[in-house]
Amino acid sequence: DVWDNHLDSLTPMMKMYLETKKQHDDCIIFYRLGDFYEMFFDDATTASKEMEITLTGKSCGLEERAPMCGVPYHAVDSYINRLVTKGYKVCIVEQTEDPAQAKGLVKREVVRIVTPGTNLNTAAMDEGKNNYIMSIAYIGGKFGISIADVTTGDYYVTEVTTERNVVDEINKFMPSEIICNHSFLMSGMDIDDLKDRLSISVFELEEWYFDEEICSDVLKEHFGMVDLAGLGISNMSLGIIASGSLLKYLYETQKNSLSHMTKLIPYSTSTFMILDTSTRRNLELCETLREKQKKGSLLWVLDKTKTAMGARTLRNYIEQPLISKEEIINRQKVIEELNKSMITRDELREYLAPIYDLERLLSKISYRSANPRDLIAFKTSLSMLPHIKNIIMDFKSPLFKDIYNRLDVLEDITTLISESIMDDPPINIKEGGIIRTGYNEEIDRLRNAKTEGKTWLAEMEASEKESTGIKNLKIKYNKVFGYYIEVSNSFKDQVPDYYVRKQTLTNAERYTTDKLKELEDVIMGAEDKLFSLEYNIFTAIRDEIFNQINRIQQTAKAVAQIDVFASLAFVADRNHYVKPKINEKGVIDIKDGRHPVVEKMMPDNTFIANNTFLDMNNNRLAIITGPNMAGKSTYMRQTALIVLMAQIGSFVPAKYANISICDKIFTRVGASDDLASGQSTFMVEMTEVANILRNATANSLLILDEIGRGTSTFDGLSIAWAVVEHICDKKLLGAKTLFATHYHELTELEGTLPGVNNYCISVKEQGDDIVFLRKIVAGGADKSYGIQVAKLAGVPESVLNRAKELVNELSNADITVKAKEIAANLQPGNNVLPTINDDLEAHQMTLFDTVREDDIIKELQEIDLGTMTPIDGLNYLYKLQNQL
Ligand code: ADP
Repeated sequence: DVWDNHLDSLTPMMKMYLETKKQHDDCIIFYRLGDFYEMFFDDATTASKEMEITLTGKSCGLEERAPMCGVPYHAVDSYINRLVTKGYKVCIVEQTEDPAQAKGLVKREVVRIVTPGTNLNTAAMDEGKNNYIMSIAYIGGKFGISIADVTTGDYYVTEVTTERNVVDEINKFMPSEIICNHSFLMSGMDIDDLKDRLSISVFELEEWYFDEEICSDVLKEHFGMVDLAGLGISNMSLGIIASGSLLKYLYETQKNSLSHMTKLIPYSTSTFMILDTSTRRNLELCETLREKQKKGSLLWVLDKTKTAMGARTLRNYIEQPLISKEEIINRQKVIEELNKSMITRDELREYLAPIYDLERLLSKISYRSANPRDLIAFKTSLSMLPHIKNIIMDFKSPLFKDIYNRLDVLEDITTLISESIMDDPPINIKEGGIIRTGYNEEIDRLRNAKTEGKTWLAEMEASEKESTGIKNLKIKYNKVFGYYIEVSNSFKDQVPDYYVRKQTLTNAERYTTDKLKELEDVIMGAEDKLFSLEYNIFTAIRDEIFNQINRIQQTAKAVAQIDVFASLAFVADRNHYVKPKINEKGVIDIKDGRHPVVEKMMPDNTFIANNTFLDMNNNRLAIITGPNMAGKSTYMRQTALIVLMAQIGSFVPAKYANISICDKIFTRVGASDDLASGQSTFMVEMTEVANILRNATANSLLILDEIGRGTSTFDGLSIAWAVVEHICDKKLLGAKTLFATHYHELTELEGTLPGVNNYCISVKEQGDDIVFLRKIVAGGADKSYGIQVAKLAGVPESVLNRAKELVNELSNADITVKAKEIAANLQPGNNVLPTINDDLEAHQMTLFDTVREDDIIKELQEIDLGTMTPIDGLNYLYKLQNQL
């Protein structure tokens, strides 16, 4: 503002700068000045700090110099990258006319805005991960969600109804940037959590971005359609708004036709297994809970893909397990077929290995930033396709046939590149050396002219010598006069008429001739002409390739799938997995199951395999007891992971498995990293329990570890007990459940509550010590062995001894006796919990329905109507209504 007030005294360039800044005040402006991009004022202060570069100043017409810092143009990418990964938007302003030609100030234009979700610097990215941007529109109590990756052209849309679904989609895609409308920010979503814990940049856009008509027009125009029915989204009003606003935003930031975004894929969250955020994290699907790294995750075990496209696709498969038996079996058949011949499979993987990231190459081509070397990489990749297609030709499974049909070997493009581009071209497209000899006559002629010019000159010199008889005649060159014929004074008389004098020296004369001029033009002009012609032809070839984008994208997806299945097949074979049977009868029967990740962390064959049996009847809920460290949580996670792997279509670590398709998996495991969000451990635990009880169905799989641990023994036991009763009641829930607990009293429920069975993980006592056998067996554990485990952990002897005394005195026989009594009186289905498995989603998760009308009245009194838009008002009312 300070600068604004003094606008008149500013230099013209600074005025121009401020104009741009005003239009893009949410960005850091990179302003091109000669060989540098400069930042000014607050941008300079921020950028110098974030990029650790020196802050200087520039006189700007005012008394005080404007703070300034700059980066050299050739290193700009890495600087932009640094800012963008920190959540800033960078607006790049280029000189759009040649400074030498400019009258007055050089024209400048915004050429691109780089944001966290639209960064094109793939070199700085994990190639096995998409860089997603997500648009969320919250209107009338529903959410439209659209997701895109500008580096690959992927583009999706969906609609969901609850905040929790939104969080689940965010956790599934993990975008680096979210754009949204104002109502979304007001919807009660924990935006700080998105920013701080998930490092997602969240930007609110102006309301017009979310205007349905504008959005629908943008989509129609982009896809060249008169009707959105062609996209399959005509009845998704919120979806149209989310995807349209996203596209609009991409146009505005990319300043590009985005023609590589050829498809908008609508999806429904109900076509995949539902995994909530904490389950994704607890099961460590793509990264570990604590270190947030791939090593130690399920992805780490399963990912033996050879291409970046395959790696990304596998990640997507893991994040979205299937619920259709047919689709699962189709994937299994592919894996099975691949493993019929290991030689063929491994040959296939060898052909996949040299394939570059076709999707990201394609987006570079679409952005006109692909260089000749990229095209060579492209060609190398494409040249593998015929071999791959050849190998899979004989495969019979339906999905393989389908992949085969979609795989286009793109021979025309391979030929085009082979014939036109040199084998080892430069990166720079303006300095020639790109186009192959024989591809274009003019290029050959110019190239000859350049290299053969010297010979021509020598020939001319010889023939001039001969025709004139001047023995010391020489053709020479200098920068000022170009080529000339030099004759020493002694031969001056023999110079023919058609020699035109150029320059006189003391002992010689310099001449030129028409023929020499011609030669000179050819030689000198050849290089310039050659470079610009090579450039033009190169870009034409690039465009020609781009015109085949649909075929290439389709092929890239097919290659990605082959890669995923080859990887799953390889892993299945190497790790001795078995193809699970798939049923829809509610039976989960695993023989000798193993934890896919833990077994990999241990020496071969040291992991102890275990069985799991759950069904819809007498084996719905397993109460698992056993000392700490016995392996309870490993066992429960292993069951969840085996089910999840089966639904990805993968084979599973077991001797035999028959898996019932689960609609959802829920886990409540230990204290998670939610502690950072400022809630107490117990509160977090109870919130998750509430969520599970509300959202699970009879077809869900529940993994509950030590429910009720964070409070007093009596409270904890009571809550755990009541939860077990609730889950077991078929009328209320009836979900298959593994329930690990320290409350041995719960083992009393076996035999009295239908469907409940006791299991424990066995240990052997050896004097004062215990040995973990890691085997799950029927029955409850009779002891906790807490003191023995404490001893293993190195707790001092004196403390252990005192604890032993106390155990004897504090014997909780009383609770146990009482528990036996209650259990004995239990009538199946006759429990005291209120029905809370209703359809309505609570907006603020509470364990029980604690919202009272007084609370709503209080909320109504407190809202500030003056600052609300009508839409916000409506959303707010909707939210209140939902709480009643
Ligand atoms: P709990 O949940 O009972 O405290 P964990 O499941 O965390 O125990 O297991 C503790 C450790 O025991 C694991 O880190 C793992 O190294 C080992 N372990 C667990 N299950 C097995 C098994 N089936 N075979 C071999 N080692 C196991």
